[in-house]
Amino acid sequence: MIWLLNPPFEEMVFKEGRCEQKVGVFQTSYPPLTLAYLASILRKKFEVRLLDAIGEHRDLDYIKNLFEKDKPDIIFMSVSTPTIQSDLKIIEELSKIKESKFYIFGIHASYFNERLTKKNIIAIKGEPEKVAFSLIGEKNDLSNLDDLPFPAWDLVNFKLYSVPLIRNKFALMQPSRGCPFGCVFCTNPFFYNKKVRIRSVDSVIKEMKYVKSLGLNNVIFFSDTFTLYKDWVNELCNKMIEEKLNIKWVCNSRVDTVDRETLFLMRKAGCWLMSFGIESGDQGILDGVKKQIKIEDIKRTVKDANDSGILTFGHFILGLPGETKETLNKTIKFSRGLDLDFVMFYIATPLPGSEIYEGYKGKIEENWKNFEYSSQVLNKELDLEEAQRKALRGFYMNNLKPRKAVKLLRAVGYKNWFNVALSGFGLLRSLRA
Ligand code: SF4
Repeated sequence: MIWLLNPPFEEMVFKEGRCEQKVGVFQTSYPPLTLAYLASILRKKFEVRLLDAIGEHRDLDYIKNLFEKDKPDIIFMSVSTPTIQSDLKIIEELSKIKESKFYIFGIHASYFNERLTKKNIIAIKGEPEKVAFSLIGEKNDLSNLDDLPFPAWDLVNFKLYSVPLIRNKFALMQPSRGCPFGCVFCTNPFFYNKKVRIRSVDSVIKEMKYVKSLGLNNVIFFSDTFTLYKDWVNELCNKMIEEKLNIKWVCNSRVDTVDRETLFLMRKAGCWLMSFGIESGDQGILDGVKKQIKIEDIKRTVKDANDSGILTFGHFILGLPGETKETLNKTIKFSRGLDLDFVMFYIATPLPGSEIYEGYKGKIEENWKNFEYSSQVLNKELDLEEAQRKALRGFYMNNLKPRKAVKLLRAVGYKNWFNVALSGFGLLRSLRA
């Protein structure tokens, strides 16, 4: 038997591709996409068990008992920088029961693959699906993502995961992998080597129909940059409209890869929320981290998205190289002036695999648990944890306006008012904590 395991951790964390972080302001976790892909490949030949201990709120004792019963020969285990110390301890504990083979994967495993590979642990360099294919005796270099089977969502209990704000169950879908940009704080260029692979529109539509057949009407598109290619996005949106899929969806974007016309089409096709990596309100800092966007791009695109009726989620990073008290305040002020609907402020973290990490390698303490967007490991002269708290609280308090509530309900549908209100209360409670 083969296990696909997201191991337990003391906090709710999300580990998927370049995202290695605590769950965000809405405290929602995501269905385990890579584990579901792996299960889909491996079950062609093996009996599999998919276990998302974080999503299912399972502790180590539960995992140990099940392990004792199943005695799996192989475990594919999702690991990450902030959880790695705990992940390795869990392997140690489980190995006392049976010395199974652990294939650990994720950016951290990929970056430190030589250091981490020992005895019964194999740290996978790159995408783990390649190893799964080789175990079933098939060759697939993943150059064409259309060749991947759809994730084995039938093994996942969707009731455990709900889309932020409207609290409905949803599927995570990956229409592309990779991003050609090279932001110095991001681990994506390391993991995918800046190569972009994008699925055909037909393949994405087919998967949306599959997701719909499972009773899911909500999708979060988990691409590195969903709006990289305008023609592809337009074709996909037109197809969604033509096929009357009636699926509500969320995606991420860059402020320089989407225009007004496409935004209106996306809204018509069911998009209700978009995430933008804005990072800073200071042009010098944006240039320094190779973000390759202009302040004007940010203002224009957020306005266009607002006009289209799509809700906007801005992501900011505090404490990037060159940050001073002045630029910090500038970013916080900028975030409030943009008319965004939601924001998240992350504390700059030199995650292994990012260009920033290379500059600090060997100079900072490798207490990986602190390599997380709410802990400060760099720029100690600024109180970034306090700035993060203040920025978040200030933004949401400032955003409590009737006009915002109307826009929000228009975007998600008035029938969802109760769940939206619940999420709003939850959000305000978490900000007070
Ligand atoms: S645009 Fe920058 S932050 Fe976004 S995925 Fe690409 S490299 Fe990472």
